[in-house]
Parts: sequence; C-alpha cells; structure tokens
Amino acid sequence: MPARILILDAVATNRIVLKVKMQAAQFAVDVCANRAEAERAIAENRPDQILLNLNCADADNHDFCKDLRNATNTAAVAIIALGTPDTAKARFAALDAGADDVMPRPINDTLLLARIRNLLRVRSAGQELVLRESTSRALGFEEACRSFEVPANVAFVTPIPDMHAKMTNALSHDFGRPVCVITPDAALAAKALPQTPDLLIVDATAVPQNERALFGLVSDLRSRAATRLSGQLIITPADEPEITALFLDLGADDAVSADASPAEIALRAKALIARKQQTDALRATVRSGLHAAITDPLTGLYNRRYLEPHLARLAEQAVASGHGFAVMMLDIDHFKAVNDAYGHAAGDRVLVQAADRLRENMRAIDLVARVGGEEFFIAMPRTSVRQAKLAADRLRRTIHNTLFDVGEAHAPIHVTISVGVAVSDQDGLDAFPLTKLCDCADKALYVAKSAGRNQVAMGKSAA
Ligand code: GH3
Ligand code: MG
Ligand code: MG
Repeated sequence: MPARILILDAVATNRIVLKVKMQAAQFAVDVCANRAEAERAIAENRPDQILLNLNCADADNHDFCKDLRNATNTAAVAIIALGTPDTAKARFAALDAGADDVMPRPINDTLLLARIRNLLRVRSAGQELVLRESTSRALGFEEACRSFEVPANVAFVTPIPDMHAKMTNALSHDFGRPVCVITPDAALAAKALPQTPDLLIVDATAVPQNERALFGLVSDLRSRAATRLSGQLIITPADEPEITALFLDLGADDAVSADASPAEIALRAKALIARKQQTDALRATVRSGLHAAITDPLTGLYNRRYLEPHLARLAEQAVASGHGFAVMMLDIDHFKAVNDAYGHAAGDRVLVQAADRLRENMRAIDLVARVGGEEFFIAMPRTSVRQAKLAADRLRRTIHNTLFDVGEAHAPIHVTISVGVAVSDQDGLDAFPLTKLCDCADKALYVAKSAGRNQVAMGKSAA
C-alpha cells in the first residue's frame, strides 16, 4: 500500500503542483483547502504524513499544527511545514509548533522527497515499537516512560573541533552534560565517544571538499554497535539541498542547514534526543514484556508457556545426541494446610523459598519451571536414570532438611515435597515420546504421594 500524504494549502495552484509531484512519486494524496476539510480527510483516510502550508494568507495554521501534534490519533504523523518565509524566526516558529521539518519556497523537489522518505522510515520504526508496546501493556506489563530526561549524551563530530566551541558550550548547558567534541576518526574508533550516545551531531559543512569521507561517516556510524541506535543530526552546507537529501537518504535522522540559528539546532537536537529516549524505553519495555511473558512473577521461574517449546527443543537435541533425558514433576505436600494455618501470604513465601532452593540445586543447563500452584517441573538433558534419581533425592532433602520462614508471627515450619521422575531410554526419545515421558513422571508423582509423601518415585519405564 502506498504511503498517504495529505496536502493542506489554501492556494489552489500550490495544491495542484504538489499533488502532481506526490502522485509522480507514487504516494496516495488527499488535498485540502482548509482546516475543516483536512480534519475530515484525516478522520477518513489516516494519512501517514501531512504537508502543511504555514503561511496561508487567510488562516494561521500554527495552531492547527500544534493541535495535530497533541491529538492522540495524529501525534505520530509527520508534518512538514511549507511556505514559511526563509527566516530564522519563521523556521523556529514552525518547528516549535510541532512540525518535523520546514521548507521555505521555492521547494527543492529532491530534498522534499528525501525528507518524506526519511520521516516515513523513522515513523514506521516508531509505530512498530508502539504496537508491540501496546500488546505488552494489554498483557498487563508496565508502561514505557515517555518523558525527555536530562542529562543526555551528545557527541559533536567535526573535523575542526575548535571552531564550534560557542555552539557546543550552549548545547552542553541545554543537555545538562558536556557535549563531547570529537573528530570523525575518533568517532569511528568509538574510543573517545560517550557510551552509546543519544545523539551525534555531525558537522558536514566541509562536504564539497571531503564528500566521500563524510557520506561514508554517516553510514558507518549507523552500522557500528556503539552508535547504531544514536540519533544523527547532520549540519549541512547552506544552499546545498541535494547534499542534504543525500544525507537523509543515507539514514540520517535529521539535517539542518549550517546557517540555521543555534536555537533551531538545539530544538532539533532536543526532538531527536526525546525520540531516542522514547524508543529506548519502548525497546526496554518490549524486552521486559517478553521476559514477563515467559516467567512466573512470584518465583521468577519459567512458566508453562516457555516450558513447552523449550522441552520440544531439548527433546530434539536428545534424539540427535543419543543421550538420555530426564524430567521430574515435583509437588509440595499438604500445601493447602500451610495456607490454612499461616495464610496465603505465608504460602507465597514458602513457594518463593522452595523455588529458590530448586533453582540453586540444579545445573545451568537444567530447566526449572513452575507449572501450577505448588507444582514444579524440571528437565535435565544428558542425564542417566541413576543421576536423575540422585538429583531428585537431593532436591527432596533440600526442601525437607531446612525449615521455611513463614513470617515473623510464626516459627519456621517443616515442608516436604514429593517427586516423580521419568527418563528417556538410552536410544533417545524415538521410542518414548515426550508427552509419554511427562505422563510417566506424573504417574510416578502420584505413586510417591500415595506411598506417604516426602519421597521420590521413578517412572516405570525408567527403572
Ligand atoms: P498434596 O500433598 O496432595 O499435594 O496436597 P496439597 O494440599 O498440596 O494439594 P492441593 O492440590 O489440595 O492444594 C494445593 C493448594 O495450593 C491449594 C491452593 O490454594 C494452593 N495454591 C495454589 N497456588 C497458590 C499460590 O500461588 N499461592 C498460595 N499461597 N497458595 C497457592
Ligand atoms: Mg498439586
Ligand atoms: Mg501439593
């Protein structure tokens, strides 16, 4: 599906010219003459990007721009302001109103298209993360932090460090931490860089003399581990729209002309830092969301959702290697009585302590999961019948031999556990499928319970 661009311009000829250019570039286009039409088109067609004339004679669209930025359904839609006078004040006003970029007329078509592609790319990466985050939140995981936090790590990459002292001092003040000024070579070596900078400001004003090195620098920084996720703001030579377009197409996040005011550079830098910090927070939420999805919040052990695919993989490995594979079902004895006597919170404490003891007593390659209220499952690759039996009995004693804390109001208590063990035969799992192995451990657990609890029973086929 082509990206959809909305054009809002009160001047008919502007609309027509822009529409033709956008259609030629394979975008779907809506054209609107005023705010009411634009609002209708936004509601109906949900554009990916808005080209907004901020200099209409009969309407001040700055307020509309601010409203679009603040409304939840358009907050993530990129806005390019067109038609502003080419003055520092007008540019700043447009960016401050929430526009992602400003292009005074006459518009350079190459630059406009590069900027549209750049914003579409940035926005779609952001939306993907937002989507994943909303899934995580729907599952009950914590919300991402959305605020812009100082201090920020900023590096100013320039072949002539001394020349920009005034600007870097001002930026250091804004970002609450000294901006690190380094040469392109040092940035690539990554040694002199602050750890994973939030933003790299690259002085590319020397491109006409040093074209290849500077274009190479931007894509190189994008490919290195330390700077891959850093925002990139490129300072490009004034009146060189084609060069700016190239930087945007190379993957720079934003570009600003060398004759822009320091205030504009700072504003753009802040927007990029805020975006970087938001994506970092989202990424962390997604990661912790995935972690939360496969672990049990009370004990921190893996849950059943993780166990099933993991067991299937362990089984495949066992078949391939021909080594035996053991599973255990463990169930706390008379656990209901613990809850009844000391309360549910004390029961939870017992579960946490039991889980810790099981985890601490197994090898790193063994998998310990909580599969029910007071039921645990352990998978042990490369394990013989004898080893499995020894391990199960060791676990049983670990629970039995040390008292469990149930809170200050009571003396520590005795807890016991019953264990059912099953081991695949020496030919691997071909002759004894995984589900059967688990059933076998379950039956053995039942035998251990029936025989009086606090004991280990071996599954029949494992004898
Ligand atoms: P058995 O020796 O036969 O295993 O007896 P039991 O009492 O351990 O077994 P039963 O299945 O009758 O009871 C299990 C109890 O575990 C009942 C339930 O209230 C409790 N339980 C389940 N999940 C939790 C939990 O997360 N926290 C607490 N505190 N109790 C739980
Ligand atoms: Mg049970
Ligand atoms: Mg029980």
